[in-house]
Formats: sequence, structure tokens, C-alpha cells
Amino acid sequence: MKLSIDRERCEGYGLCAESAPELMHLDDEGELVLDHDEVPPSAGPAAESAVRVCPVAALKVG
Ligand code: SF4
Repeated sequence: MKLSIDRERCEGYGLCAESAPELMHLDDEGELVLDHDEVPPSAGPAAESAVRVCPVAALKVG
């Protein structure tokens, strides 16, 4: 499973990072950083919940 971000859409709200802190974080400038291109199987549910909480649908798993 891969996680990707649409930077044009992302507004830096950080809800995804709160939902899946093991997969992503906001940097000092409020830009979202994905910590893994390939989501470890154990973090699949966290990745899906991060996708769900994003208010602008900027995250995708596939
Ligand atoms: S919740 Fe969506 S808009 Fe907010 S930082 Fe995450 S990807 Fe970006």
C-alpha cells in the first residue's frame, strides 16, 4: 500500500498527522511530510483513517 499527497489540495490542517503520527508529520513550516512511501501493513488502518479525516481529500492510498 502506498500513500500519496496532492500538494495543491493540502491546506496543512494536520488532522491526518494527528490521526496517523507514525506515518506523517508537519514540518516547521506547516508542510505535511510523509515518513514512508510504502505503508507498513500494520499501519494500513492508520493510513486509511488519515485519508478519511482530511477535509480536502488531499491524501490517497492505493
Ligand atoms: S489533513 Fe489533509 S489538508 Fe490537512 S495536512 Fe493532512 S493532507 Fe493536508
